[in-house]
Amino acid sequence: MINVKELNKVFDSKGSIVRAVDNVSIDIAKGEVVVIVGPSGSGKSTFLRCLNALEEMDSGAIAIDGVKIGHSKTNINALRREVGMVFQHFNLFPHMTVLENLCVAQRVVRKRSSNDAIVKAKELLTKVGIAEKVNEYPSRLSGGQQQRVAIARALCMDPKVMLFDEPTSALDPEMVGEVLDVMRKLAQEGMTMVCVTHEMKFAKEVADRILFFDHGKLLEDTTPEKFFSAPKDPRAREFLQQVL
Ligand code: ADP
Ligand code: MG
Repeated sequence: MINVKELNKVFDSKGSIVRAVDNVSIDIAKGEVVVIVGPSGSGKSTFLRCLNALEEMDSGAIAIDGVKIGHSKTNINALRREVGMVFQHFNLFPHMTVLENLCVAQRVVRKRSSNDAIVKAKELLTKVGIAEKVNEYPSRLSGGQQQRVAIARALCMDPKVMLFDEPTSALDPEMVGEVLDVMRKLAQEGMTMVCVTHEMKFAKEVADRILFFDHGKLLEDTTPEKFFSAPKDPRAREFLQQVL
């Protein structure tokens, strides 16, 4: 489903070169749940952002379900339709109700009728457990509810892949569980998922594979069992000592 070959992304920040993603190659199969962990600044977000062309790669190749991310606008738009993304800070449209948040891209990008879009939106709000908030504005929802709306909004597009960038990092602790529960359910249903998270319990229970990034390099690609019991790379061991 996801093929990444020798991906590189360099930032020039005030004259100093940062290798945010340093020659990363990886294949992710349909239905796999991959959790990315690593220290702050290790390139996790940049890697995810390259996967849906929010960040332009410097070199390498990425294909999602066979569609290559090239420099053509057609490909980039085709690809973004298939890849849903959920961010740390929800990024809902504040001036729209929950329902409008879920319908706008369905109509504009998927060209669905208003009626079809509404039916789909309500179905997904029910799935994430907040059907009753359909006419609320985001500011009237808790963080956990807003994040569940953001997940439902992404799912409305029928994505082939879902990317999550620290979806629970901005939440109060009591709201983390409700968002992880939705993600766990999606994983069980067979969604292909790539999640950056610091929730190690979720990673252990839900991930098929753990990727460990440090300084832009993919240093480990292994099962949760192996990663949490005996990480090979010394930097992964050090990281685990800090977070566990
Ligand atoms: P992570 O998500 O693992 O914390 P990031 O992907 O955000 O890491 O960042 C990786 C590296 O790239 C960091 O050194 C960061 O400072 C740098 N970086 C990220 N985005 C930019 C940018 N737009 N301009 C300059 N440097 C950036
Ligand atoms: Mg990040």
